[in-house]
Amino acid sequence: MKEDILHNLKVINTRIQNACEKAGRNSDEVKLLLATKTVPAERIKIALENGQTLIAENKVQELKEKYEDLKETLHNNHFIGHLQTNKIKDILKYDVTCLQSLDRLELAEKLHQRLSAENKTLEVLIQVNTSNEESKFGINPNEAIELTRKVSEFSTLRIKGLMTIGLFSAETEKVRLCFKILKKLQQEIIRENIPNVEMNELSMGMSGDLETAIEEGATIVRVGTAVFGARIYPDSYYWNEEK
Ligand SMILES: *Cc1c(COP(=O)(O)O)cnc(C)c1O
Repeated sequence: MKEDILHNLKVINTRIQNACEKAGRNSDEVKLLLATKTVPAERIKIALENGQTLIAENKVQELKEKYEDLKETLHNNHFIGHLQTNKIKDILKYDVTCLQSLDRLELAEKLHQRLSAENKTLEVLIQVNTSNEESKFGINPNEAIELTRKVSEFSTLRIKGLMTIGLFSAETEKVRLCFKILKKLQQEIIRENIPNVEMNELSMGMSGDLETAIEEGATIVRVGTAVFGARIYPDSYYWNEEK
């Protein structure tokens, strides 16, 4: 099992490198984030002990369950799932450093309240729904600039960029359109020159579409199955807040 993970990591890193070369980008512009939903802590540890540093969960419950087992192993924890406001205290307690799925003002308000009380700050990415699928979370692209502007007023939230989940489709060019929307939004927001807003990060691309995302400017690719193997539940399970 260790060999599998190490082999898969090598393959992914080569894919990232090749995509960067093709796009004329430097491979150190793209960070590999491991999406660790359903993966037991011992398997995550193998990746962390072999050069990986960035992981992310979708559900607070899993973050909590693995916390003790992983806390001695150096890493950085992002959160990429839909976050309910009553779980805010947990992501802070379990040392999440970046919330990639900030998708609504109410969540920002509640985060700010809690962060202020704890005298902390949190990095955030604004999650945008670029595929126009109702099943996906994320702010509508038309409302993303306004949300960014409002979130920027909360001094505890450090906006670092944007995140999206591309369309699930075998048609590369349709997926590419999603990534282009995110890139274009990033450029628009940069032009707005909003105080307290950095727009360096574009978190987009997963196991199946990371090459396309890198060609369109991704700085963080989020990879799960290509490193840890297939999951037993469909992705919709993890992206549904009711479960
Ligand atoms: C699971 C997940 C990923 C990784 O998906 P894979 O197809 O397994 O690489 C990326 N982003 C989010 C938000 C996820 O939930």
